Amino acid sequence: MDLLDKFDSIVALRTSLPFEKADPFKVVMDEILSETEAVINGRRTILAGTNNYMGMTFHEDALAAGKEALEKFGTGTTGSRVLNGTYGGHKLLEETLADFYGMEHCMVFSTGYQANLGMISALGGKDDFIIIDADSHASIYDGCSMSNATIVRFKHNDVDHMERRLKRLPADAGKLVVVEGIYSMLGDTAPLKEMLEVAKKYGCMTLVDEAHSMGFCGPNGRGVAEALGVEHLADFIVGTFSKSVGTIGGFAVSNHPKFDVLRFVSRPYIFTASLPPSVVATATASIKAIKNNGNRRAHLWENARRLHAGLKKAGFNLATAEAESPIIAVHLPDPMIGTRFWEQLLMEGVYANMAAPPATPSGVFLMRVSVCAQHTAEQIDEIIARFIRTAKIINMDF
Ligand code: PMP
Repeated sequence: MDLLDKFDSIVALRTSLPFEKADPFKVVMDEILSETEAVINGRRTILAGTNNYMGMTFHEDALAAGKEALEKFGTGTTGSRVLNGTYGGHKLLEETLADFYGMEHCMVFSTGYQANLGMISALGGKDDFIIIDADSHASIYDGCSMSNATIVRFKHNDVDHMERRLKRLPADAGKLVVVEGIYSMLGDTAPLKEMLEVAKKYGCMTLVDEAHSMGFCGPNGRGVAEALGVEHLADFIVGTFSKSVGTIGGFAVSNHPKFDVLRFVSRPYIFTASLPPSVVATATASIKAIKNNGNRRAHLWENARRLHAGLKKAGFNLATAEAESPIIAVHLPDPMIGTRFWEQLLMEGVYANMAAPPATPSGVFLMRVSVCAQHTAEQIDEIIARFIRTAKIINMDF
């Protein structure tokens, strides 16, 4: 019995796609020229499919802090946060984040994936319920699988459906509602105010994943909960350093007085090595810079609106009626066209994400385009022009 046989259908699907010149799942960035450009297959390419929303990957404070920490503290901690892996820098990062969110407590994890895994698995005990949006990120689903709780799903962003689900659960049971601020594939925003209010009406605790909304939503860039004025209804906010912050790592912040106990019960926090000092210093510098960077935030939103308006005017079928985030998703009719579109767009010198099931909701195929605060208006116009040219070259009806 070959244990890999069970993946034959996936291999068959992948080999059936008509890629000739490049494979969307094996792209190599040969050189990174800036936050917005790379060399791919020897061609200068505009990056329009990263999560580098605030363009912090080359921010001078972040670079300088990372280099200094590398020299001073070495390349890695070689240990868990609860043993030898907590340096002064990790504590400073936690304080910086608690301050950024105006919350009492913060725990830093080695990735955002692990932050969700660690929080959700620890919070969801045997007799508890975890209530999640059906389109939740894999890390939320995996946190649920790792917990001992019963999982209840409601339709994406559907407050009524969520309430109907909550009504049926025992009033006195432990309940955790988990939602995201912005959903990463369609770039749509959650009706967080209504959702958190309904969650509280039914006595639930709440966790909001602001992975794709930190940095540019709300007056201080804290996310959708801040933008909608409902941070007080979120018991836990989870986020990542791998998107707007421009490095790697994850975190959870909270005002819960017992929050710190999670450091002793959350397995994805305990049983893995902590972030290297250079990454921790980079993240700290980046978060401080983001906090005071209203200009970048404003420019990012201008870019998002410009791209959305340009693609809409050209006739593309977009996932949201307006730009709700820096993620602008273009619907493509089927995997064959999706494949050819993605490949031709890359030949035109634009990298965007080809998004396909199971990563996308309802089995749709998307070109996921995302903008960066450092894109110029000219680059945004180029992306639009090259989208139109690509559609013409492959004879796509749209
Ligand atoms: N939550 C959401 C909603 C995400 O989209 C992601 C990453 N794509 C994560 C968590 C995990 O973040 P990280 O890359 O830091 O593991």
